[in-house]
Amino acid sequence: MPYADPWKLINQAQAGGYAVGAFNMHSEETTEALLWAAIEANAPVFLQVGRAIVPHMGLRRAFEMTKRIAEASEAEYVIHLDHGPWDEVLEAIKLGFSSIMCDYAHLDLDANIANTRRTVEICHDFGIPVEAELGRIPDAGEEVDWDEYLTDVGEAERFAKETGVDLLAVSAGIVHGTVDGKSPPLDIPRISAIRDATGIPLVLHGASGVSAEDVRAAREAGIRKFNADTDLRHAFRSGIEAVWSHGDSQFEDAVAEGRRRMTVAAVDKLRQYGACGTLGAASDAA
Ligand SMILES: [Zn+2]
Repeated sequence: MPYADPWKLINQAQAGGYAVGAFNMHSEETTEALLWAAIEANAPVFLQVGRAIVPHMGLRRAFEMTKRIAEASEAEYVIHLDHGPWDEVLEAIKLGFSSIMCDYAHLDLDANIANTRRTVEICHDFGIPVEAELGRIPDAGEEVDWDEYLTDVGEAERFAKETGVDLLAVSAGIVHGTVDGKSPPLDIPRISAIRDATGIPLVLHGASGVSAEDVRAAREAGIRKFNADTDLRHAFRSGIEAVWSHGDSQFEDAVAEGRRRMTVAAVDKLRQYGACGTLGAASDAA
């Protein structure tokens, strides 16, 4: 199948009060797992080219592999660049990514706004929606003073207005990765306040290890895209370990079991996000 229209998928989620699932692909088998999950869940999926894969195989190879596998499947998908710096954003536009996240959240507010606006202008010229981040999302295990990390509501309002960004990733208590399988509790009132102040769909990164109740509350507060990676990687790994713990087997048998378990885990995420069965709804709205 060709690309799904990311604008339509996000608008549909916004109208329907659910969220799309965005998961990192890492290899042929993990890309297949995400596409199979999308088909089983009757939901679209954002296939994310994340930060770890770029030094591993390069942006072009990661994109071309994902596209080749996705085009051969029946799933509805978007190929999304996650946390792209400027040079990668430009390369991603040339390669044909259909959705892009730029990340200038490490800069001060004015510089984040200026750089994000520049990214939005060029991406919109190519019809590509842009996600940006405000506030900082710590990595698992980092010592954190949350006051310096959480997204400020007033800044979010200004950021959305001045950048014209389409989706905003917020920091509301989550981390990239998981801490002992758990994340700290989410600041749900902050998420609703940012939704009300900005009026745009919000994104929650690091949504692994977040409880089902917190996921539901975050959806109700305005999260329209969840990014999850760690839980799915653990599912893949458990499949490999289960096969190889019985002694040596073919590589293919091990990764096939990883792929099977990752598919199950991704369907479960899509169910939590409220995305299952939304495919027909998205094309009806066309
Ligand atoms: Zn992230």
